[in-house]
Amino acid sequence: MALEIVTIPCLSDNYAYLAHDPATGTTAVVDVPEAGPISAELTRRGWSLDLVLLTHHHWDHVDGLSALLADFPAKVVGAAADAHRLPPLDIALAERDTIRIGDEVGHVIDVSGHTIGHIAYHFPASNVAFTADSLMALGCGRIFEGDPEMMYESLMKLAALPPDTLICSGHEYTQTNAKFALTIEPGNSDLISRSRAVDAARAEGRPTVPSLLSEELATNPFLRSDAPEVRATVGLPDAPAAQVFAEVRRRKDNF
Ligand code: ZN
Ligand code: FE
Repeated sequence: MALEIVTIPCLSDNYAYLAHDPATGTTAVVDVPEAGPISAELTRRGWSLDLVLLTHHHWDHVDGLSALLADFPAKVVGAAADAHRLPPLDIALAERDTIRIGDEVGHVIDVSGHTIGHIAYHFPASNVAFTADSLMALGCGRIFEGDPEMMYESLMKLAALPPDTLICSGHEYTQTNAKFALTIEPGNSDLISRSRAVDAARAEGRPTVPSLLSEELATNPFLRSDAPEVRATVGLPDAPAAQVFAEVRRRKDNF
């Protein structure tokens, strides 16, 4: 039985996610920007909390942890590589390690680039990946600690997951990302229609996440280094894909 996913808006533009295994009643939360909305959702559903899965060390993904644990004791899981700057971990993981939410087995993917030590969690039986600030809806995280090559390699690992994978990312940046994406691929009809759908969702206050990997592959400029229009826009018709990515990312930084 697939994990039940609940999207929880936090702070001004962050998301936390609950992942609940209905077979065993086990529940995890992915990232804790603040405790209040997560506690409220757990209480409303009558769920206890078993696991906290952290993606990376930035404050807007961990700040609510101690307050949440005070009401909902749980085991804290995160990257071994980042243990020195994450809150205390009960379980420290590296790439290819696994973590279970009840019967559902998750695989750890190193997606360094935004930070070094950023991990994603992929649950293949449920077709869901928690990507936080690596692959985002129509975007990707800013490269603070890694370099473009590293970030590109991380994104390609995620791009290789099954196209029907649900991508649960960390922020509501999609509308701005869409405006930028349209400067890179103004002729992409899938992007044009997705951009309209994003505007409509935001006008009604609905989250634009999670998204499907297939949508990202068709519209996210950071996954589309090989698209002729992307290459033409950045003036790199024959460059390696990672170099095209680096130029698209550079333009987004200045957008
Ligand atoms: Zn971050
Ligand atoms: Fe963030």
